[in-house]
Amino acid sequence: MAGLYIHIPFCRKACNYCNFHFSTQLKYIEPMVDAICQDIKQNHPYLSSQPLNTLYFGGGSPSLLPQNLLGRIVDSINRYFNTDSITETTLEANPEDIHKENLFAWKSMGIQRLSIGVQSLQDSELLWMNRSHSVSQSKNAVLLAQSLGFFQLSLDLIYGSEKKTMPQWQSELQWILDTQISHLSCYALTIEEKTVFGNWVNQKKMQPIADDHAAQQFNYLRNWAIHNNWDHYEISNLCKDGKRAIHNSNYWQGKMYLGIGPAAHSFNGNSRRWNVSNNIAYIKQINQKLPAWEEEILSGKDIFNEYLLTQLRLSDGADLNELEKLHPGYLLSKQNTIDRLIQKQSLSIHNNRLVINPAARFLSDAITIEMMID
Ligand code: SF4
Repeated sequence: MAGLYIHIPFCRKACNYCNFHFSTQLKYIEPMVDAICQDIKQNHPYLSSQPLNTLYFGGGSPSLLPQNLLGRIVDSINRYFNTDSITETTLEANPEDIHKENLFAWKSMGIQRLSIGVQSLQDSELLWMNRSHSVSQSKNAVLLAQSLGFFQLSLDLIYGSEKKTMPQWQSELQWILDTQISHLSCYALTIEEKTVFGNWVNQKKMQPIADDHAAQQFNYLRNWAIHNNWDHYEISNLCKDGKRAIHNSNYWQGKMYLGIGPAAHSFNGNSRRWNVSNNIAYIKQINQKLPAWEEEILSGKDIFNEYLLTQLRLSDGADLNELEKLHPGYLLSKQNTIDRLIQKQSLSIHNNRLVINPAARFLSDAITIEMMID
């Protein structure tokens, strides 16, 4: 079983914090959809005929695609892949694109899960981030989608900004409970180079993110999850009633996936590919039947470190037997580091799995680096 990711690299406007690959030049939408359909045709063999179990439309903003163009991509997928076993089809949707006509069309194309870019429930913060929707648009979009039978909704929220106070964060999470949402992706705001926020910080027009403020909001989220019986199964992902995201969970479990579209990544167990991050170059290369990707054959060390990186993000942690299988002698070689991190209460071992303790999860990147092999 494998996953398919389709990257739609267009947005109406640039959010001030975003460093994903996208363009606001919407005139290239049609040639891009043609190229994506060609990419599917040219590169489907990467998955060695594995049937798909998940399909994910991400971006950018896939919800801004006109219905007929999205339908063409879906047709190409059905033509070149075995889609009979798909159990989850997700579309990332911005609140301003969620209206009856789109919801009906998406449903007819087999999309049953929406990942909605709500980001904040404060209008002033949305404006500051340069989002193109208001709080009331987000709330109405969620209620409308639910009323039309979309029960698998995941909401994206950003915490940790100077614009969001603790009481506001608390009330956002309360609203999640009130609306019966079953999945959340919550990201700490980070300041990236080549973004508007990055420039503002460089020009001293904006303060860098205060880590203690972000950590406080992360800790509130962690406790909120415990109190309300939510499964905080990955650093940024939480769900209730067992509704973990299957597509993203497959990434974290090291399953195969193919990424179609500019900047999309692929992995098939032995190699990793990444597509060119430029819309015009991507369209040109695909049209000329040239590879629009670069590829790296993974070494044993890469595979091990990648496994560790993804597994330590999960609340279930990393299987000690698997770590030893991938790199014999690993546990002995890291014994001192493991002992020290256990003593610091950053790590623990449960059921033969190495787990980052919930209270230390905000620092998981630093802990993972210590646990990697050179
Ligand atoms: S956050 Fe989403 S909507 Fe905003 S620019 Fe980035 S990809 Fe586009």
